[in-house]
Amino acid sequence: MPLHLSHLIAGQARASADSLAVHDPATGEVFAHCPAGSAADVDAAVHAAQAAFPAWSGLANEARAHWLRRLADALEARVDDFAQAESHDGGKPLKLARQVEIPRAVANLRFFAAAAEQFASQSHHGQAGLNYTLRQPLGVVGCISPWNLPLYLFTWKIAPALATGNCVVAKPSEITPVTAWMLGELAREIGFPPGVLNIVHGLGPVVGKALVEHPRIKAVSFTGSTAVGQQIAAHCGPALKKTSLELGGKNATVVFADAFEDAGQRERMLDTVVRAAFQNSGQICLCGSRILIERRVFDAFREAFVARVRRLRVGGPFDPQTDLGPLVSRAHFDKVLACLALARAEGGNVLCGGESLQPLGCEGGWFIAPTVIDGLGADCRSNTEEIFGPVVTLQAFDDDAHALALANATDYGLSASVWTQRLDRAHRIAAGLHVGIVWINTWLLRDLRTPFGGVGQSGLGREGGEDAMRFFTEPKNICIRMD
Ligand code: NAD
Repeated sequence: MPLHLSHLIAGQARASADSLAVHDPATGEVFAHCPAGSAADVDAAVHAAQAAFPAWSGLANEARAHWLRRLADALEARVDDFAQAESHDGGKPLKLARQVEIPRAVANLRFFAAAAEQFASQSHHGQAGLNYTLRQPLGVVGCISPWNLPLYLFTWKIAPALATGNCVVAKPSEITPVTAWMLGELAREIGFPPGVLNIVHGLGPVVGKALVEHPRIKAVSFTGSTAVGQQIAAHCGPALKKTSLELGGKNATVVFADAFEDAGQRERMLDTVVRAAFQNSGQICLCGSRILIERRVFDAFREAFVARVRRLRVGGPFDPQTDLGPLVSRAHFDKVLACLALARAEGGNVLCGGESLQPLGCEGGWFIAPTVIDGLGADCRSNTEEIFGPVVTLQAFDDDAHALALANATDYGLSASVWTQRLDRAHRIAAGLHVGIVWINTWLLRDLRTPFGGVGQSGLGREGGEDAMRFFTEPKNICIRMD
């Protein structure tokens, strides 16, 4: 029986007259019905949040932290249910949802609960009296999240917003709305103060747009595509609303010969580069989709890499043997197939994959084989535009300068992963990359205190730790004459 989701507004479950079908991408079947919210629903949620704001912002930080921890505890007690829902909703392998994504959502809530307790204001004493800076919540803020890591990114936004004393109207992706709805139900169960967290479901151009443009929304924290991020910036700029934009990526994995030639490092490097390329079927903004390899080892790397990719198992998300599940939706599946056709038209040489699959028991699903392509130039569309699927390209470079030129040859600038044993080279390359995050000899190793975000077409602003706490607060300096 499909689930019937509702909005969470003023602590109440609210239905909408219209609904949207939510599909299980492994089977193509309808898994849930999500409310198709309207601007009126957004308005009701904003009013509820405004009404809740004085009491919530007036709580001691410890009290807000306490609520976030209660929500984290309730979520942790239901990790299996949430992981199952995430796998049905987005098609991701259950083990990924169970071991990484839902536990990370719990960690997000706990991390920002602790941050609320540790958040300190600055003071400057001496030159001109005594100055101290209050950091006050903004009011009602909008949080808009995408489908690729649904609850993980939803909590990554709402937790710092709530921890700093704001009230939230959040809009999860209409493609994967189920775990956000479940979190809203948990909030109701534990008696989370009504109106503090509101969740409105529906289409981006309707609910998302109404949220961004609502005059009482003080800030918008958005994660999603660059095209939508630009639309949000176009509204928020003239309206002078604070915005945090976490957008697309076309990340480079840079492999120097020494990393491949070192037998002690090679296996771990290959395992990680394969994971960086294909985790969540390549549907992570941080995936390394352009692999740059020093020419001296290009052929040997290609052979070893393709052999590993051929061993990846594509299948239903609930099969414990599955490495790659389906793509999230029919529309995204069609987009990635079109990207494969483009890569062929651009002269790409498909080394493995390159086609759709129908694993046993998932004949109606949207699966694409992990695909490796070489023979493409750095400036073709396949190497400059985000595909966001299980597709990577290989390119050879000659020296450090060439590696940097290839890595920086896109308008995106989210992350990069660099593999070398040479310390001097690692630091030099890291400094020269036009990105917000560099991993050396690893990928996706995350300390939640660090700044997270990209440059260029990958976004504006940073999330994580202190940066998120600062984004969701307004500094107010108070100066006292001391003589
Ligand atoms: P999307 O931009 O289509 O949608 C993201 C969210 O915005 C959804 O909730 C959607 O309903 C909403 N939305 C759509 N149109 C809107 C509008 N006009 N106004 C307001 N909201 C609107 O992105 P997606 O397809 O859901 O997600 C994939 C994209 O997200 C990829 O480009 C990926 O790289 C990016 N992403 C970036 C990061 C990061 O941290 N930089 C993380 C994850 C995903």
